Amino acid sequence: MSRYWSSIVNKLTPYTPGEQPQIDNLIKLNTNENPYGPSPNVTAAIAQANSDSLRKYPDPNATVLKQAIANYYSHFGINEKNVFVGNSSDEVLGHAFRALLKQDKPLLFPDITYSFYPVYCDLFEIQYAQVPLRDDFSINIDDFSPENGGIIFANPNAPTGLALSLGEIRRLLDAHTDSVVVVDEAYIDFADGDISTAIELVNEYPNLLVTQTVSKSRNLAGLRVGLAVGNAELIDGLERIKNSFHPYALDSLALAGATAAFEDTDYFERCCQKVKQTRAHFTSELTKLGFTVLASSTNFVFAKHQSASAKVLFEGLRENKVIVRYFDKPRLNEYLRISIGTDQEMTQCTQVLATLLEAP
Ligand SMILES: *Cc1c(COP(=O)(O)O)cnc(C)c1O
Repeated sequence: MSRYWSSIVNKLTPYTPGEQPQIDNLIKLNTNENPYGPSPNVTAAIAQANSDSLRKYPDPNATVLKQAIANYYSHFGINEKNVFVGNSSDEVLGHAFRALLKQDKPLLFPDITYSFYPVYCDLFEIQYAQVPLRDDFSINIDDFSPENGGIIFANPNAPTGLALSLGEIRRLLDAHTDSVVVVDEAYIDFADGDISTAIELVNEYPNLLVTQTVSKSRNLAGLRVGLAVGNAELIDGLERIKNSFHPYALDSLALAGATAAFEDTDYFERCCQKVKQTRAHFTSELTKLGFTVLASSTNFVFAKHQSASAKVLFEGLRENKVIVRYFDKPRLNEYLRISIGTDQEMTQCTQVLATLLEAP
């Protein structure tokens, strides 16, 4: 508390990011970063942008990046007018909360989901109601029945890793044609089978906004670039907020790097494939050790041991230089969220867990 602060600052409970310890030789499996570096084309593009031209402001419309994203999704009929970009998907989400989700009726989101949503509601003074997940942590579309001024959820969800199919999302959209529905797809590129991006539905549903990030599947958490795809009317709303706040949100290096990332589809697909392969192997190792692992459509697993305390395992891993995420909250406190690293990192994580579980 401070008498110098605006009154709202006294009331805020800021988001707590997963820690970024500055310690060598850590196995860092706590913030869902990609274990592989960016494409060489990305580092080359950033090196090229690192030049005299930094004296100039970047393109405030991010035209080239929007074109690259529209091009990547052109098979869904997406063009630049459907694309918004921002300085991280957290920022893009923030603009969506202000531009689209602040309404007279409450915003709905699951009780267990990305913990930034209630933080934005408090910051922007948006009323909200949380919809409980089922006991198995799945989202029940039918529970979003209360009158609302918008709906937001992560698909795949965090920290559970579970995902809804496009059929379910379509059913939600059909039931809420008067509200904006935001689907936060930070992890969608790691999904398999019948789980895929809702960007496919953007041209059918003018109230659908899909957000994504280059932080996870495109190996660029340090670059801070996020995006949204939706009907041009929704995108215009986001642009109005952005241009009233931070017109040059993306710097020249970020624009160059993110554009190259969207253009190098080969590298992107190979990394996603590798992460999914490692996830499958790690899941089976955890199962052998007595864990129940939720079906993951992401680059992390959410796992609970049959007898050992998650908190004790979390601390034991930490003592052995393996950092994972533990949420000391009801319903989540029996689980560990473990990001998928390299095969070698996951083998080490498995070995430490095996030792901890053997200890008397
Ligand atoms: C990581 C994450 C984000 C934020 O991504 P940034 O672009 O790095 O800000 C948003 N939503 C969910 C569900 C995430 O896990």
